[in-house]
Amino acid sequence: MLRAVYPGSFDPVTYGHYDIILRSCKIVDELIVGVLNNKAKMPLFSVEERVKMLEEVTKDLPNVRILPFDGLLVDFAKRVGADVVIRGLRAITDFEYELQMSQTNHKLAPEVETMFLTTSIEYSYLSSTTVREIAAFGGDLSQFVPEAVAEELRKKMNTKRRV
Ligand code: ADP
Repeated sequence: MLRAVYPGSFDPVTYGHYDIILRSCKIVDELIVGVLNNKAKMPLFSVEERVKMLEEVTKDLPNVRILPFDGLLVDFAKRVGADVVIRGLRAITDFEYELQMSQTNHKLAPEVETMFLTTSIEYSYLSSTTVREIAAFGGDLSQFVPEAVAEELRKKMNTKRRV
């Protein structure tokens, strides 16, 4: 039984993340998407909102579970009994940070391996930051995020404009 954790901020989940989820849930028996509640960052969506959007997007994938976490990734992986951490690699710019993180995690918990999936070409440019920027200017989000997420982005931008 191979259980993996796919961690990230998912602020919000994009088609790039979804592609990694779809591909990795075919490789492992159970995939836990770990939504980081990073208190040092000011996310656009609360951790509860990010979890809800991911649950909606993955509702037809029976071996995928969404869980929030804070603290060290390796502690979360050990707590949920995961053998593997999955990360997506978009470009060479991701590489240095990801290498450092996976090596640090290996020092902290040698039993937890990190596995990288390279991005599908059609999503290699896509990030949550870009999506938030497009949403802030009222751009068309249909190529970047599932409709349920686009709807939440529109609502969030409207409430932000009102305050
Ligand atoms: P973080 O804040 O930890 O970078 P993100 O939510 O941005 O988390 O991303 C989570 C994971 O998904 C990371 O491994 C990241 O490289 C990967 N990822 C993000 N966008 C894409 C994409 N367009 N294609 C493939 N992987 C992606």
